[in-house]
Amino acid sequence: MHSTNLPPYPTGAARNFFRRPFVFFCWSYVLLLAFLFSSQILHTQTRPSPAAAFVVVLDPAHGGADSGAHLSDGATEKDVTLALANRLRNLLEERGFTVIMTRNSDADLSDTQRAALANRAHAQACLLLHATSSGSGIHLFNSSLAPADATAPHRSFTPWETAQAGSITRSIALAAEINAAFSALTGRNAIPVTLGRTYLRPMDSLTCAAVAVEVAPLNAKDPHDRKEADSPDSIDRVARTLAWSLQQWRSHSTGAPQMDDSLNPAHADAGGKR
Ligand SMILES: [Zn+2]
Repeated sequence: MHSTNLPPYPTGAARNFFRRPFVFFCWSYVLLLAFLFSSQILHTQTRPSPAAAFVVVLDPAHGGADSGAHLSDGATEKDVTLALANRLRNLLEERGFTVIMTRNSDADLSDTQRAALANRAHAQACLLLHATSSGSGIHLFNSSLAPADATAPHRSFTPWETAQAGSITRSIALAAEINAAFSALTGRNAIPVTLGRTYLRPMDSLTCAAVAVEVAPLNAKDPHDRKEADSPDSIDRVARTLAWSLQQWRSHSTGAPQMDDSLNPAHADAGGKR
């Protein structure tokens, strides 16, 4: 229904006022500013937030009174795993990762303390680092737990002893990523990889994608190879290849393109030893 009581707007003098060229210009200017301001707000609101932290937990196995395996020349596993973790942490932090170490000194931590630290970090990857004087190359282990039954009734708590069951599929995918990185090393940089499943504490209590990485000599029967396995050069090569595999893991997990090719093991042989 049309009301005849209300006057049309603008009326009389007001209409004349708005028709003045100067006033028209002013109104146009105000509208333009309003448009620019609102589009700026919109732009700010739709701008992607800074990339969320990609967290990696490194667990240098053993420590304190627990020396782990005795390697060549009196080197102990606890020192080699800590050296590898420190080198890997630097490489990852330089590339924007958030790195949590379960220990960064000669500390003796229980398996429960390690798992609690790792689970609190809500990490996208957890690497348990070991070293041995037997076997050959790099040994990668996933938990032997079967995947959790996704159709089972939801439980309000995660059983501590089998927490890894919920992440085992991702853990196997992470091991495949690490295997691919080491398999790309060729020529004299080549390092053989062995994949396995095992019961290993504290891995079964971890809720993240978790892989145990054990560094072995290329040939355990060769004294030179045994000594070479825990040399700074060898630790650096293993750390760089692990860092590359975690860069690939981040890229595949987040969908963000891989921008930094400097650790790509495919280029490692071009100049001989890295
Ligand atoms: Zn060990």
